[in-house]
Parts: sequence; C-alpha cells; structure tokens
Amino acid sequence: MKKPKLRELKEAIRAIFRGPYTTKFPFEPHEPPEGFRGRPEFQQTGPTGVGCVGCKACAEVCPAIAIEVVDDVDANPPVRRLTIHHDKCIFCGQCELNCTTGEGVKLTKQYDMVTFDRSTACDSIEHELVLCQSCGAVIGTRKHLTWLAEKLGAKAYANPTLILTADGSARLAEPFATGVEEPLARNELMRVLCPACRRTVVIREIWGR
Ligand code: SF4
Ligand code: SF4
Repeated sequence: MKKPKLRELKEAIRAIFRGPYTTKFPFEPHEPPEGFRGRPEFQQTGPTGVGCVGCKACAEVCPAIAIEVVDDVDANPPVRRLTIHHDKCIFCGQCELNCTTGEGVKLTKQYDMVTFDRSTACDSIEHELVLCQSCGAVIGTRKHLTWLAEKLGAKAYANPTLILTADGSARLAEPFATGVEEPLARNELMRVLCPACRRTVVIREIWGR
C-alpha cells in the first residue's frame, strides 16, 4: 500500500478542526475575495465623475466579442448603444484594463447570474452621437468629444469639431444640425465635420477643387 502524501494528510487534519474550504453557497451568501472577476458593468460616473464616454475601445479589445456596439443614427437624437452580453463574456477583464477613461466598465463581485432568459443576461449604456454636419457620418459620442476637449485644454482649439461639441455641451454654442449644403467652402471649417469632410475643405482651399 502506498504511503499517503504528507501534504494531503496535513490538509485533511486541518479541515477536521477548521472546517472545509468550500463555501455554503447558495444556503449562505458568499463574499468573493479582492480581485475577483465577476459580472462586468458599465459605469455612468466613475470615481472622478467621468465613467464611460462611449468610445467603444472595450468592444475592440474584447476577445470574446461580447460587447455589442450599435449606432442608431436615425434616432432623435442619434445614439450609440453599448451592450455587454454576459452569456458570451469570459470574465477576462480586458475591457476594464483597456478602458480609455479607466473607469467606464468595472468587473463586479457578482457571480450568481443564473437565468432562464439569455436576453436578460446583459448590461447596456447609451450615449448621444455627434454626426458630421456635412455628410452625416458618425464622429463619436458627445461625451467622448467633450471629455477629449477638457483633457486637451487650450490645444482643443486646434480642432473645431472638439471645441464646438464641448461648447454645445456646456450650452455656450447653438446646437448644430447635420446637412450642410455642398460644396464645402473655407468658412465651413468652423463646423462639426468628420475627418474626410474637413480634408475636403482644406484641399479645396489649397488646390481649388
Ligand atoms: S469609456 Fe471605457 S467602457 Fe466606455 S466605451 Fe470607452 S472603453 Fe468602453
Ligand atoms: S471581461 Fe473580457 S470577455 Fe467579458 S466583456 Fe470584458 S473583455 Fe469581453
């Protein structure tokens, strides 16, 4: 007969006096340890008050493609909807690790997510979209552009799209609408334009076409 392994024997004796390592869940609540990776949730406001800005970087890095991004440009106002599908999530924590603001999505300690309806196993957040005033292309979310303008400070004045969006959010400028008449002229530079339309304005200014 083989000798019992000493380490296992030690653990068995310890368990007799201290009780088993396993928890009594679901009969008693269980508190997961620090660093536990549970249900990821979007945060409207984080510790600094910023939270998620809707940049969708988390969706880009998610290895399980568990974060869905839908841009509804026909809504009034147009919105970006981000949804974490917990039935696809592998709880790797990459979304939290790579979040642009560092506080837009957090992995909570919640682990009990049993459901009979998979469509309820999700967490969503919505942000207002900013569209190009000329072609209607999606530029980004209002919160993301405003956050960028605040971070850049005076340097944001180099980009009219950023500064006009930030001023609009602070109600320092009139709300803008999409649909500028073609052709774009030099004076259209001080408008909310996508990179392609801004390039068109600059090229027309320099080359006249
Ligand atoms: S701010 Fe963070 S959580 Fe929000 S969309 Fe960007 S990367 Fe995702
Ligand atoms: S924890 Fe991992 S798998 Fe789950 S949503 Fe975040 S990045 Fe995707």
